[in-house]
Amino acid sequence: MSDSLNQFADEKLTALEQQNLKRTLAETERVGPIEVMRGGKRLVSFSCNDYLNLSQHPDIKKAAIEATERLGVGSGASRLVTGNHPLFAELEKKLAKLKGAEAACVFGSGYLANTGIIPALIGADDMVCVDELSHACIYAGAKLTSGTVHVFRHNDVGHLREILEAHRKDHPHAMIVTDGVFSMDGDLAPIAALADAADDFDAWLMTDDAHGIGVLGGGRGSSHINGSANRVALQMGTLSKAIGGYGGYLCAGKSVIDLIRTRCRTFIYSTGLPPGVVAAASAAIDLIARDPEFAALPLKKAKAFTHFLDLPEAESPIVPIILGTEERTLKASKLLEDEGFLVIAIRPPTVPEGQARLRVTFTAAHDDEDIARLADIIKTRILSAP
Ligand SMILES: *Cc1c(COP(=O)(O)O)cnc(C)c1O
Repeated sequence: MSDSLNQFADEKLTALEQQNLKRTLAETERVGPIEVMRGGKRLVSFSCNDYLNLSQHPDIKKAAIEATERLGVGSGASRLVTGNHPLFAELEKKLAKLKGAEAACVFGSGYLANTGIIPALIGADDMVCVDELSHACIYAGAKLTSGTVHVFRHNDVGHLREILEAHRKDHPHAMIVTDGVFSMDGDLAPIAALADAADDFDAWLMTDDAHGIGVLGGGRGSSHINGSANRVALQMGTLSKAIGGYGGYLCAGKSVIDLIRTRCRTFIYSTGLPPGVVAAASAAIDLIARDPEFAALPLKKAKAFTHFLDLPEAESPIVPIILGTEERTLKASKLLEDEGFLVIAIRPPTVPEGQARLRVTFTAAHDDEDIARLADIIKTRILSAP
């Protein structure tokens, strides 16, 4: 068939391998809330985004099984055709309530949500401002618009204001998009200051709360910390992390949600989520809404870890240990694996050049003793080594 195609792939892979940037899939079997089997070894995982361990929760599994038995494995079509089974409306109502919004729309995934919402709202004459450390699918969504994309320095509201000052008047509409919790750094967006800028320049603020829902603001997310009223017009997030299953969502005003259902291509032209997945998310939201103290546990564990290592106090369940080179980071990850911990090395292009890191994530079920031992190994055998 095509020799040039195989040759192209081989050459690319060889080049990536030489730079320590080739990626491979490792078979990983979840065995319980925090443990995994990998390469025949049982490891305590500090790399999973299942912050509340809900993917393994008996009641949530049961909800998924019951819905599957009752309504089938798949939804069979796009929600606008015949895929809109009754569990969607229930989940959307619960999401809107949790997020303090008028309405919600559930998507196939977080990636599909971002790549659909941004181009559905921003046209060729409009502008989008994106925080430089935003998730890849925010960039992908911005690129899919035919509008002008500006990137502002990470969490630098002054820089964002300069951009809006210079360009806002040239565009009928403007949008500001950022992670609410940054996925590779664990820090938070300055939401109040961003909302002020959005008000001053009539720009629409969207936060991606993939790592905020379920764990911050009593489980309601990064736009609700310390009980503050929501000031984010477009609260986007995923059901795939603390919620324990799969899917994406947008919470916003009712007309915005109606417009998304009418015009968003990743909503219209993609099959609705399976009933079991929607039922599981619904049960997970119930559990989180009932128990904000449980939702606070992952951050508590992350804070204990940062105190132990004298790092800046964790703001979310994600703590980066930036080691610099790919080589040093891979070596550290291997050392931890030998000690029974799974902590994945994160390399460019997921993070900027020269900022390869261990990304440590904490969940409700992590044992305090395991956390202390992990911190001790990082302190004495990784950070102190060249
Ligand atoms: C994981 C993640 C997504 C993608 O969500 P999926 O539901 O996994 O597609 C989007 N944004 C951020 C910030 C993420 O961390």
